[in-house]
Amino acid sequence: MIRRHLTELKPYESVDPVEVLAERAGIPAEQVIRLDMNENPYGCSPRVQRALGEAGSYHIYPDPSSRELRRLLAGYTGFDPEYIAVGSGSDELIDLILRLTLEPGDRVINCPPTFGMYPFSTGVCGGEIVNVPRGPDYSIDVAAIKSAVDRRTRVVFITSPNNPTGNLTSEGDILQLLETGVLVVVDEAYYEFAGVSVAHLVPSHANLIVLRTFSKWAGLAGLRVGYGILSPQINEVVHRMKLPYNVTIAAQIAARESLADMDYMQGRIKAILAERERLFQGLKVQGILDPIPSKGNFLLCRVVNGEALEIKQGLEKRGILVRYYDVHRLRDKLRISVGKPEHTDALLLALSHC
Ligand SMILES: *Cc1c(COP(=O)(O)O)cnc(C)c1O
Repeated sequence: MIRRHLTELKPYESVDPVEVLAERAGIPAEQVIRLDMNENPYGCSPRVQRALGEAGSYHIYPDPSSRELRRLLAGYTGFDPEYIAVGSGSDELIDLILRLTLEPGDRVINCPPTFGMYPFSTGVCGGEIVNVPRGPDYSIDVAAIKSAVDRRTRVVFITSPNNPTGNLTSEGDILQLLETGVLVVVDEAYYEFAGVSVAHLVPSHANLIVLRTFSKWAGLAGLRVGYGILSPQINEVVHRMKLPYNVTIAAQIAARESLADMDYMQGRIKAILAERERLFQGLKVQGILDPIPSKGNFLLCRVVNGEALEIKQGLEKRGILVRYYDVHRLRDKLRISVGKPEHTDALLLALSHC
C-alpha cells in the first residue's frame, strides 16, 4: 500500500521531549537546562503571552493567504507581500519547495555538516541527495557544488549562518551558485543573530529563495511560524499548492506581536549575543571543550579531552542538555545553545565534574 521510496525512509533525528529526559536524570522537568535546540532561553515576548490569552478568534479558520502577517513582514523585511510566503515553521517551506520542484529521482545538493531537514524532506519527496561536503573551515565548496550540478539537479540548500557550525556563506559564493540557474535556497534561520542576509538579491534573481523563522529569535518554536522571501511568480504557485490553513491563528497573532515588540526582542537578542561571547571565553579558559566562532545563538565545540558522547551523557545526568550528532565530522563535537548567564555558569560547573 505504501510508495516504495517511503518504506525505507529514515525518520528525522530529533531529541526526546524534556519530560522524558528529566525522568531519566531523576530531576523535575522545570530544573532541566535545555541547550540542545537553539531555542530562545528568555521565551517569547510578554506581548505574545498577553495577546494569545485575550484573542477571541480561535474558532475562526485563519486567512489562507495570511494577508495581515505578510503585510507586517513586508514592513519588517522591506519586500512587498507578494514576495513573502509564510509557513508552519520554515520546515514546512522546505517541504513545500521540494514538493514544488522534485520529480522522483531529481537531485538536491546538500552541504554537510548542516541542518538535517533538507535530506529528510528530499527523501519524503522521492528525490536524491547529493552531498558536497564543506571544507576544513566549514565554508561551502563552490567549485565542487558547481561541478555536481547536472540536468537532474533541482535545488541547492545553503544554511547561513550554518547550523551547527555557525559560519556564514559570503554573498559572492551565493552569487556564483545563482549563476548555475538552479534554485538556490538560503536558509537564514539565524538571521537576527547574524545581521547578514542575501535577501536583497531576490528581486534580481528568480532562482533565489531566502528562508527565515520566528522559532529562534522570537522564541516561537512551539507555535510554528516561518517565512520565505521569493520571486512573486514562484510564490504564486506556492500559494496555490499549500494547505489552506497552514499557519494557525495563534501563530499569526504571536508573529504579529513579536514584530510589534521588536525593540524589546532586540534587547534579548543582544543579551544572547553577549552571553555567546561569555560562554565562548568561559569554555576556552576551561579547556575541556574548544568552541569555534559562531554567528548564531549556539557554539559548536570540539572535545579536547574525552569522548563527546560521554560528556553529553554526563551533562544529561546533571540536568543539562546539549546536542550530539552521530554523523561524520561531528562525533568529536557538541553543539551548545546559548542560554542565560546562569545556564552558562551551571554548564561550566557541570563540565568540570564530567
Ligand atoms: C531551527 C532551524 C530551522 C527550523 O525552523 P522552524 O521554523 O522551526 O521550522 C530551519 N533551518 C535551520 C537551519 C534551523 O536551524
